[in-house]
Amino acid sequence: PEWYSPQTGIYSSKYPSIPLPADPFLDVVSFIFSHNHNGQTALIDSSSGSSISHSDLFPLVKSIASGLRSIFGIKQGDVVLLLLPNSIYFPVLFLGVLYMGAIVTTMNPLSTVMEIKKQIVDCKACIAFSILEKAAKFQSLGIPIVCVPENVTLLKENKEFEVFYKLVYGDVNLGTRPVIRQEDTAAIMYSSGTTGASKGAILTHRNLISVVELFVRFEASQYEYSSSKNVYLAALPMFHVYGLSLFVIGLLSLGSSIVVMRKFDANEMVKAIDGYGVTHFPVVPPMLQALTKKAKSVSANSFKSLKQVSCGGAPLYGKTIQDFLDILSHVDFIQGYGMTESTAVGTRGFNTKHFQKYSSTGLLAPNMQAKVMDWITGRFLPPGCTGELWIRGPAVMKEYLNNSRATASTIDKDGWLHTGDIVYIDCDGYLHIVDRLKEIIKYKGFQIAPADLEAVLISHPDILDAAVIGATDKECGEIPVAFLVKRNGNKLTQEAIINYVAEQVAPYKKVRKVIFVESIPKSAAGKILRRELRHSLTSRL
Ligand code: AMP
Repeated sequence: PEWYSPQTGIYSSKYPSIPLPADPFLDVVSFIFSHNHNGQTALIDSSSGSSISHSDLFPLVKSIASGLRSIFGIKQGDVVLLLLPNSIYFPVLFLGVLYMGAIVTTMNPLSTVMEIKKQIVDCKACIAFSILEKAAKFQSLGIPIVCVPENVTLLKENKEFEVFYKLVYGDVNLGTRPVIRQEDTAAIMYSSGTTGASKGAILTHRNLISVVELFVRFEASQYEYSSSKNVYLAALPMFHVYGLSLFVIGLLSLGSSIVVMRKFDANEMVKAIDGYGVTHFPVVPPMLQALTKKAKSVSANSFKSLKQVSCGGAPLYGKTIQDFLDILSHVDFIQGYGMTESTAVGTRGFNTKHFQKYSSTGLLAPNMQAKVMDWITGRFLPPGCTGELWIRGPAVMKEYLNNSRATASTIDKDGWLHTGDIVYIDCDGYLHIVDRLKEIIKYKGFQIAPADLEAVLISHPDILDAAVIGATDKECGEIPVAFLVKRNGNKLTQEAIINYVAEQVAPYKKVRKVIFVESIPKSAAGKILRRELRHSLTSRL
C-alpha cells in the first residue's frame, strides 16, 4: 500500500497532512483563542449547573495570568502544580498559567504527601492549586496552596476562596506579555515510560498545538455535523494527558460544551447524559463497562442524545465492546490509542455503516509516522506482523525532565518514540494493540510504575527484595501484584504489607496481592525478569 514503505519500514498516516502554524513565537493559549466562539456554554459543572461561557473564558484566563504575576510573583518558566480533581476552573487555571509563560505540572489529588513532595522537588513547583478538603493535609508541602472551588456559587460565597476570587476576577491586563515560543515547555506530565520510576514528560506549546490540530480539530472535521453543537461529558480526569488533551485544550477551540464531572460515578453519569443532552462521551474501559451496565437498567428514553463513545487508555476485551454495541446500537463506538509521551496523539478509529473495526485502535493521526519493530532482531516489519510500535511526529514530547538516560532510551537519534507497546498494523492501516513490552501497570486506565511500588516495598525493614507486576483483572484491567523475599523466619503477612504500601501511595496504586518467593528472577545485569514472573503468575492462578 502507498502508506507503507518496504524500503524504510515507515508507515505514514493515511490522512493528508495538516499544516501546523509556522510562526515560532506562538503559544497554545493564543492559538486556542484565535478560534472565536460567542456566548455558548464552554464548561458546566454537572452537579450544580454553574457554568462559564466561551466569551467569558479568555478574560478569566487573562485575569489568572495577570494575578499569578502580581499576587504571587510567578515568572515565565516557573512551575505551577495543579493538584485538582475535575472542575470548571481546571482548564481556566491551566491556560492562565501557560498564557503568562509559566509551566503546569499535574497530579492526582489523591496522591500522598510523600508522592507530592517527590514531584515538587523533581520539577521545582513553587505554588499549588488544590481543593478545600485537601488544603489542611497539604499545608506541610512547603509551598503556598490556593484553594479552588467546585463551582461559581461557592467561589462568590466562601471566604476560603478569597485568593482564588482575586485571581479569577482581577485585572485582565497582563501588561507586556513574555515572549513565548512554540518550543518552550508548557506542561510536565508524569509517566513511568518504558521502565523505572515516574518521570516528567516535557510537553511544549508545539506539542499542545499539535493535539488541538491533529487529534481534536481533525476528528471534528470528519463529522457530518457542526461540532460547536456537541456536548462532551468530562468524566476522565483532566490531570491525565487523555482528559487534558480533550477537555482542557482541544475542545475549547471548537466551541463545544463540556459537562464537567468532578469524579466518575455511574448514577451521576446517567443524570449528566440525560440532563445536559450529552452527545460525546470519551471513556476508559471501566467506564464503558459501567455505561453498558446502566444502559441495561435505565428507561428506554435514556441515552437518546448520545452520538459517540470513544475509548482509550487501556486494553479492551472484545466482549466489552460487543456488549456495548448490542445495547447502545444507535451510538458510534471508536477506540483510540495514545500515551503521555505523545501528548495523547496516536491513532483513532473511525467507523461507517460499511466499514467497522471496533477492536482496532484505528488509523495513525495526520502528520504522524510509525514503524513496527522486531525487538529481538531490530528489523522493521511490514503490515500484518507483530512488533514494538515506534512513532514519530510533532506530538512527540521533547524529553524527560532531568533524565537524559531515560530520554535517550525512549526517543532515538532519528526522533522515533519507542512506545513499549506490542502491536501490528493490518492491511487497511489499522493499529491493533497485542501486548505490552514495558513495565507499566494500568489500573482502571491509571498508570502505576512498578518501580515506584518496589521502592516503597524495599524500604520495609523485613523485605529483602521485591518485584511488582500487573495481573489481569476483569473489572480494573490490571492490578499490582508484589513478589517478595522476606527476611528469614519473619512472620510478615500479606495484609501487613498491603497496609504498609497503602499508607504511602495514592489509593489506586495499592498492592492488591502478595506472593512470597525465595528469590526474584533477574538477568545477569540485575534487571527483574518480569516476563518470567508474569508466566509464573499465570500458572499459579
Ligand atoms: P498513558 O501514558 O498513561 O496514557 O499510557 C499509555 C499506554 O496506555 C500506552 O502506551 C498503552 O500501553 C496503553 N494504551 C493506551 N491506549 C490503549 C488502547 N486503546 N488499547 C490498549 N492499550 C492502550
